[in-house]
Amino acid sequence: MVATNELYEEMLTLLKTLVVIPSPSGFEDERAAFLLPLLKSWGFEEAYIDEAKNVLWKIEGETDRIILCSAHIDTVFPDRTPLPLKEDEENLYCPGIGDDAGCLVPMLIASRELKKIGIKPKHTFLFAANSCEEGLGNLKGIKNICQTFGDKIDRAYSFDGDITEIYNAAVGSHRYRVEVKTKGGHSYSNFGNTSAIDVLSEMIQKIYALEVPQKEGEVTTYNVGTVEGGTSVNAIAQSASMLCEYRSTDKDALAYMKEKFFDIFDGAAKRAEIKIELVGDRPCADCPDPKMMAQMTNKALEIQSKYAKVPVKTYPGSTDCNCPLSLGIPAIDVGCYVGAGAHTREEWLKKESLKDAYAVITEMITWEMER
Ligand SMILES: [Zn+2]
Repeated sequence: MVATNELYEEMLTLLKTLVVIPSPSGFEDERAAFLLPLLKSWGFEEAYIDEAKNVLWKIEGETDRIILCSAHIDTVFPDRTPLPLKEDEENLYCPGIGDDAGCLVPMLIASRELKKIGIKPKHTFLFAANSCEEGLGNLKGIKNICQTFGDKIDRAYSFDGDITEIYNAAVGSHRYRVEVKTKGGHSYSNFGNTSAIDVLSEMIQKIYALEVPQKEGEVTTYNVGTVEGGTSVNAIAQSASMLCEYRSTDKDALAYMKEKFFDIFDGAAKRAEIKIELVGDRPCADCPDPKMMAQMTNKALEIQSKYAKVPVKTYPGSTDCNCPLSLGIPAIDVGCYVGAGAHTREEWLKKESLKDAYAVITEMITWEMER
């Protein structure tokens, strides 16, 4: 379905209103509170906000089997005050304008327009403006949805990313905050005492000396993303910490990396006090129906290619789909808008592409409704 000019103008206005509302992962309250009355005013009287701050609404089908359609409301930006929005002839500029407000807004309007048509689909369509997709949000939103509706969900679509992308394989990851503590002391008079920085850097060197598992078609990586610690130039560091992760599309490789990381942590524990906190746990796929995955991916490729001006590609990714995929539920992430700079303050979106996003979402959902 192509958006009329009236719908396009409505999407633009809604996007500009929504995107400035701050919504860091875990603090989506304000965006959720904005969306709920809007959905109710559109006739989704049973829309509600769950305990994970997801906004949920439905188009009832003939059965209670569910097709889940989601777009996330959280941003990577910690801002708790309105986000800065700029506009020119062609584009909108704002942190989070594409990722994922650029998918959420067309999905909202698409759900309303599809309800208006009055078709009663076979499956029930559960829509989610979900929380905590980004970073340390750790997929809390989608995990809660899968916990509540999991065994009823047949397939899941996450609308997220630009129109040239489809994510149809899950990159799992484990993320840790590791803190080293030692007695420390004066750098001159206590010389020889263990330094937390020394212990931490030894761990980092061992991580970077790891060989990742090599398996055809699978990719495994690791990273130490941040380090901090120490007191001053003349103090033996009493504490130092890092955020580190490993990722893989393969379950066995994730288990292997876990073992190697913990060998390193355990080795360091012989020299200092080590505190390990799991701050991220994103599962990878657990054998979902390959035939269904191919059907969904091919349909998305066909629809997105119709509107994208450049070739559409499939990738493995770390998205909301990780959660249904890990439960054996076929799930793909469908990109919708034209823009760039996701996760940066320079992010932009091409205004006209809201029409393409709307078409991609309605056509994907219509295909599911008619199956
Ligand atoms: Zn996103």
